[in-house]
Amino acid sequence: MADISSPDRIDVRFRDGRGYPIHFRSLADTPALLSEADLTPGRCLLITDENVAAHYRSPLRTALQRAGWTPHDIVLPPGEATKSFEHLQTIYDEALAAGIDRSTPVLALGGGVVGDLAGFAAATLLRGVPLIHLPTSLVAQVDSSIGGKTGINHAAGKNLIGAFYQPDLVVADVRTTDTLPQREWTSGMAEVIKHGLIADPAFVDFLEAHITDLLLRRTDAVAEMVRRAARVKVDVVADDEREQGRRAILNFGHTFGHAIEREAGYGVFTHGEAVAVGMRAALHLSHHLHPSLNLDRADALVRTIPVEGDPSSLSLDQLRPAMQHDKKNKGDTIRFIVLDRIGEARVIDAPPQDDLEHAWDFAKSVRT
Ligand code: NAD
Ligand code: ZN
Repeated sequence: MADISSPDRIDVRFRDGRGYPIHFRSLADTPALLSEADLTPGRCLLITDENVAAHYRSPLRTALQRAGWTPHDIVLPPGEATKSFEHLQTIYDEALAAGIDRSTPVLALGGGVVGDLAGFAAATLLRGVPLIHLPTSLVAQVDSSIGGKTGINHAAGKNLIGAFYQPDLVVADVRTTDTLPQREWTSGMAEVIKHGLIADPAFVDFLEAHITDLLLRRTDAVAEMVRRAARVKVDVVADDEREQGRRAILNFGHTFGHAIEREAGYGVFTHGEAVAVGMRAALHLSHHLHPSLNLDRADALVRTIPVEGDPSSLSLDQLRPAMQHDKKNKGDTIRFIVLDRIGEARVIDAPPQDDLEHAWDFAKSVRT
């Protein structure tokens, strides 16, 4: 469970006692936090992408060097295509040429792409070196840096090669998200809203109260939002490290969402936009099963996410094959996450065809 004793720290604690801290602190505090985690200054690998490097590489390097670290930087091109065998190979080559040993930490500075790729490299280099996540996107701070999933994409699908590998610590500097492009921000907000809807009704109240300012990033409430959204993920993954049960609820909106993203052609909808549309379908299905669920209320919150793609051009027949092949299914049965009420989710198998039709008609109808 998450330790909520300090506003700038959440401890992830697994059932067997292992764990690591997530610090909501300035990136400049990273060297001090490395020492606190018993990492002794020496060589380290600083892995990032070009966009993030432009803002944060040099100040972080300076802070590390002042504390006695010798960073070896690997700056990769930005974008999902970087989560590839090719760039993994680049990291292996550079890391081995730099003479790393088992105690050389990998610092993953960036969004989920850098975190997943650098995390998998850390899991596999010399059978595992220390991993530090320094998430700079909203998705990375509330989602991908937490829970230990690392990996790369394969021609056969996204995230098909990877490992569960926990970091030694996470330093999330909320202020770094100031430079995130607006569409990346609002896409990340879809996952934030998802965290509220599946597990935290009080957080849904908070989001509703501040949603306009949060979408425009013009409020102090942003820092609190990031911490509360991260805490939901911490609680869910600490309960179920290897995704054998409850962790599946994080997939709310994603059964339709992944299919929309893929069938529209990657890039038409961002992941978060596709998830927002997918959540509308999942909410409709949920309301059908549990008429007491306040569909209007939950849907109004989801519809605050701007969606640039047009879902009405996609039919359920187009989406179904992709939903059947979702790697979270068991066999050919399509699994869905539904809400019993706001803040409570569960998994169902194979909803009736008619219900899916109605859910999709609902989700694709209103442009958000
Ligand atoms: P991303 O890493 O591609 O970052 C989005 C864009 O924002 C990129 O162009 C990046 O260069 C830029 N960027 C990041 N931080 C910035 C900053 N502070 N200022 C300016 N630009 C910045 O994408 P993402 O949305 O962060 O993450 C998506 C990836 O994460 C996907 O590959 C997804 O599969 C993965 N993911 C993993 C998990 C997990 O549990 N491991 C969970 C969710 C998503
Ligand atoms: Zn997602």
